[in-house]
Amino acid sequence: FFNKSKKNMSNNLTISCEFFPPKTEKGIANLRRVREELRPLAPEFYSVTFGAGGSTQDNTLEAVIDIQKQQPETDIDAAPHLSCVGSNADRLRTILNTYRDNNIRRVVALRGDLPSGMRDPGDFRYANELVEFIRNETGDFFNIEVAAYPEVHPQAPTAELDLENFKRKVDAGADSAITQYFYNIDAYRFFLDRCEKLGIDIPIIPGIMPINNFAQLSRFSAGCGAEIPRWLRKRLEEFYDDTESMQAFTLDFLTEFTQQLIDIGVPGLHFYSMNKTQPTLTVCERLGLVKT
Ligand code: FAD
Repeated sequence: FFNKSKKNMSNNLTISCEFFPPKTEKGIANLRRVREELRPLAPEFYSVTFGAGGSTQDNTLEAVIDIQKQQPETDIDAAPHLSCVGSNADRLRTILNTYRDNNIRRVVALRGDLPSGMRDPGDFRYANELVEFIRNETGDFFNIEVAAYPEVHPQAPTAELDLENFKRKVDAGADSAITQYFYNIDAYRFFLDRCEKLGIDIPIIPGIMPINNFAQLSRFSAGCGAEIPRWLRKRLEEFYDDTESMQAFTLDFLTEFTQQLIDIGVPGLHFYSMNKTQPTLTVCERLGLVKT
């Protein structure tokens, strides 16, 4: 299974796209259309987020089953995210068994964040404990992805400790990592360097966040440990409500940024699509990553 990696033919890159689980019939139909429109990228997998302690967890299951159902025809794996905070061993075991029963062989293992008002972290404190649990329960059945933070996780006391904590997940059995998004390539390069020095040798795939809504991105970035560089923020602010010009600018920016990532030899590209086809599709078209 792990060797079946279906690299994007043109340049040996693995492409993957991330979605959030839709809650309504309209949202479900929209996601099916987006998945179909992104199919020319020949993605290795489509991942679906999971709300820690939240009420949308069944939606994640439904969304991945919908993706997996088409797997024989599309050759795109489903990769549910699974977070452990606020949960317990029994509940996680049940979810893993359901995935196994549906032949879903990938999971993105996370700690997650407790929703405000929830106090009890449950049986697991950190993602490395979840990775260990999945390996103990299911052996090598799942390909496990974990999160990495080139600009340092916001709760980490130091960058060095955060890196050591990342290594715990790798030592517990993670197969590869997806980064939090960043717009500063030096942060990612420096992170890769430090990982290499620690002997971490799994692929660390950059997560790419397309810029659709600046106000929303700005709010989100403040909380998740991803920085919008000053020059970029200034530029984006200056568009005010001129959406068309902003979209043209962000498309150019993301194309250039993704090209720079390819130039430094990244093993893959993971697009946080926000359930939208654009700008991911056009960026990839411009970079010649679309299968004809
Ligand atoms: P961890 O790796 O456990 O790290 C959390 C913090 O604890 C860090 O500061 C770390 O340094 C520290 N730490 C880790 N292990 C230890 C240890 N053993 N001892 C002491 N300190 C430790 N959230 C969701 O709710 N649902 C999703 O679907 C989702 N998908 C994501 C996908 C990606 C690719 C990324 C990058 C993030 C995603 N998140 C998601 C957000 C994520 O849940 C949060 O960033 C969360 O705060 C940390 O999760 P983690 O798995 O990185 O945690």
